[in-house]
Amino acid sequence: MDSTDDAQVSPHQTLRQVRRALEDLVLFEGRQFIVPDQVSEQIGADPRPPREDASSQQPAPELGAPAPAVAAGRVTSEAASASGGGELASFRQQICECTKCELGHTRQRFVFGSGDPNADILCVGEAPGVDEDRAGEPFVGAAGQLLTKIIEAMGMKREDVFICNVLKCRPPNNRDPLPEEVASCEPYLKEQIRMVAPKVICCLGKFASQALLRSQSSLSRMRGQQHEYEGIPLVVTYHPAALLRNAAYKRDTWEDVKWVRRIYDGVEL
Ligand code: SF4
Repeated sequence: MDSTDDAQVSPHQTLRQVRRALEDLVLFEGRQFIVPDQVSEQIGADPRPPREDASSQQPAPELGAPAPAVAAGRVTSEAASASGGGELASFRQQICECTKCELGHTRQRFVFGSGDPNADILCVGEAPGVDEDRAGEPFVGAAGQLLTKIIEAMGMKREDVFICNVLKCRPPNNRDPLPEEVASCEPYLKEQIRMVAPKVICCLGKFASQALLRSQSSLSRMRGQQHEYEGIPLVVTYHPAALLRNAAYKRDTWEDVKWVRRIYDGVEL
């Protein structure tokens, strides 16, 4: 090791770095970002990465019943609309009966998205899973709970951001979305992004990242790179369901969401 490098770092700087690292660790690995063991065990038995709904603890509502406020501190699409998202609410009404692709005939509920219609951070996942299909809300299962913790680890509340998926209807049996389904549905996402006009987009997982970036690259290649979607900074990170399966992704995810926060704070890009 070059001794001149050591001389450039003061004990005070080192102490600050250590304190910062410990704060990050507590925030991300401690109080606010823990994957319950029983959830990891349940999902670990599934050979395929689950969507956000897997292992949900939420009771499924009856088909046809009003979509619930999914948990304390979260808001439904309707609630978000009532708080000032008139344009977004109107758009939801326009497209909620969509049958442009086959998924419109097999879904239980249309899953528009939820959160602050004027959010500065917009999170995009892949598609609704079985619980989202029943609830009509995005990210309501175990992965959704983890997403809430990630958002809180950024120093925000879930209702401060806007959360949606590339597809608004559930692919049967959680299969991958088909290219024609993405082509049919992506204009809706594009319009949502235009209306919300976030400062930064956080893409959750490979599929959403590939769809928005029009790329076939792997997640590991897209992660850590500076991207833009229609002029809006875009950060690629792991889907929360992937973190439930592999806790080793948490450290990288924490770096990604800190990056999202810095862009939100206007100290990056
Ligand atoms: S997935 Fe999108 S395009 Fe297909 S029916 Fe649902 S809303 Fe329409």
